[in-house]
Amino acid sequence: MKKESVILQCSEVTVEFDGFKAVQGMNLKLEQGELRFLIGPNGAGKTTILDVICGKVKPAAGKVTFNGNIDITRRKEHQIAELGIGRKFQAPSIFPTMTVEENLEISMRQRRSVFATLFARMQGEERDRIEAQLEMIGLQDKASWRAGGLSHGEKQWLEIGMMLLQEPEILLLDEPVAGMTDKETDKTGELLKQIARKRSIVVVEHDMEFVRNFASKVTVMHEGKLLKEGSMDEIQRDDRVAEVYLGKRRDADVSRSTA
Ligand code: ADP
Ligand code: MG
Repeated sequence: MKKESVILQCSEVTVEFDGFKAVQGMNLKLEQGELRFLIGPNGAGKTTILDVICGKVKPAAGKVTFNGNIDITRRKEHQIAELGIGRKFQAPSIFPTMTVEENLEISMRQRRSVFATLFARMQGEERDRIEAQLEMIGLQDKASWRAGGLSHGEKQWLEIGMMLLQEPEILLLDEPVAGMTDKETDKTGELLKQIARKRSIVVVEHDMEFVRNFASKVTVMHEGKLLKEGSMDEIQRDDRVAEVYLGKRRDADVSRSTA
């Protein structure tokens, strides 16, 4: 794997909803193995840009490329998922009446052909992958629990584990620590850092304490545009960023920790 190679690029992406520009000429370049934080006030267009990348929303203008030169701008959502871009939404999409382990099995098998899914038995190698995944998300002791009985944080980790078993190259996470305890938030940060050794991640985040603790590079959006990009220190020193956050108190204040 070439170091510093670009895995994802959004160029001049514009999204319109009934004539309203939710995203306006947004640019975003993600390197392989990067853990990127995307922040900005409510309505900045963060969720919408994730929707564009995963194919849920089609841009009115601009281009999204994956892995160098694969143009995914007009591809369907399932095709983009198959190429290796996984999306986690705010509400977890787990099967609550099944066990943790069964949830992981289902997710892993979704990647296989229908034939293999119908006729193959669980192979040793698959079992090992499930075990490794359980350990990574810290749920090895709860493998036989009903997923619906997990804590909010644990459900989020299970869903991240389910995504990982589909082997995405990029993970898109929208406010993954919302509603988590401080301890769960820290564990999630460590988990994301571990995942980013092999994969690339874009995290939309509100919790500034979390961003400060785990971000190396931060992208700030405002009114559908790129406002600033850099280290958390650079972001915090930026006057325009401060203005955007301090001028609009209904959202997170970049100088303090709020959710
Ligand atoms: P963020 O995630 O940064 O809070 P969003 O991407 O959700 O912001 O929204 C950006 C803007 O686009 C907001 O003004 C929002 O109201 C608007 N918007 C988002 N989705 C839709 C939609 N489906 N239809 C109309 N307007 C939308
Ligand atoms: Mg959002």
